[in-house]
Amino acid sequence: MKDLQPIQLEGIKENEPIVIAGPCSAETEEQVLDTAAQLASYGIKIFRAGIWKPRTKPGGFEGVGAPGLEWLKKVKQQTGMYTATEVATREHVRQALDAGVDILWIGARTSANPFAMQEIADTLAEAAVDIPVLVKNPVNPDLELWIGALQRIYNAGIRRLGAIHRGFSTYGKHLYRNVPQWHIPIELRLRYPNMPIFCDPSHIGGKRELVAPLSQQAYDMGFNGLIIESHNCPDCAWSDASQQVTPEILNFILHTLVIRDSHQSTENLTLLRQQIDQVDNEILEALSKRMRISREIGQYKKEHRMPVLQANRYNDVIRTRVKLGEEMAMSTEFLKSILLAIHEESVRQQIEVLNDRAR
Ligand code: PEP
Ligand code: MN
Repeated sequence: MKDLQPIQLEGIKENEPIVIAGPCSAETEEQVLDTAAQLASYGIKIFRAGIWKPRTKPGGFEGVGAPGLEWLKKVKQQTGMYTATEVATREHVRQALDAGVDILWIGARTSANPFAMQEIADTLAEAAVDIPVLVKNPVNPDLELWIGALQRIYNAGIRRLGAIHRGFSTYGKHLYRNVPQWHIPIELRLRYPNMPIFCDPSHIGGKRELVAPLSQQAYDMGFNGLIIESHNCPDCAWSDASQQVTPEILNFILHTLVIRDSHQSTENLTLLRQQIDQVDNEILEALSKRMRISREIGQYKKEHRMPVLQANRYNDVIRTRVKLGEEMAMSTEFLKSILLAIHEESVRQQIEVLNDRAR
């Protein structure tokens, strides 16, 4: 995917983050046109609305379907905004292209499915269109699956190709509706530096109050744009009510965001990196000290014919350190994995002592 092009739309400045906003779903003509008019009045240039809604559970609102495309046409006529919608099948692509939708995106459930992706890619290739296509990450945290979905669209001749990071689903209760796992989009950026990446803070957070901090985080990480759900009456929304914001709030959020200048002097960065180098050295020294003590304990256990592993002690160590680390604003998962790794290495060193192979 070497010759990718920027999303480039007339009237949208290059080198500035692109903002796409609109309701999760198109519900009624009035809701679509009123929301669009408000967003346009705040300077939003690209309007999103789901026409076909992939819902995990049956019985939810599955979208108004093709009649909603007529409302998107009216949005264009009345506000001059570009329009964007989600496609998941051959028919969706055909109907959206016929209706003059300007940007297509592929949802997280669809991008996880290579058959659906190939069907969409084939339809785009048949139509031989040059339209921006954005591919959301698959619901599961699998970078290769995401790249595979992007490649299918690229192979269909699409060059204005972008990715949308919308978080990954996990089992259990979390702060986020879909955990961000930022390292995955960052790895995508490292592999395809020319591919624009959007952040969807609405679906990551699942809550209104997380839209602003997640958007800022995305800008800080150099994302190229945002796709945010905005509804003229969020509490009345037929889908994803808790994560939608009014156009007015959206405008407020966008004005609070700080866009960092990537051309800024790198002096501060150099200083910060020197600090990181220093801290890393300290961490390694502390670890080496810990291992030396572990070996001394190993020697003691050997002399007293004690087993290396004592379950109570191990559980206490993990529990107390995780608690302490949580108080220092580190995630439980991170703390558990690092403490487990340290403990494993300590055990390995003690076993070496027992076997008289200590260095
Ligand atoms: C959406 O954008 O409304 C949507 C259904 O998103 P996702 O595919 O990320 O769940
Ligand atoms: Mn939604």
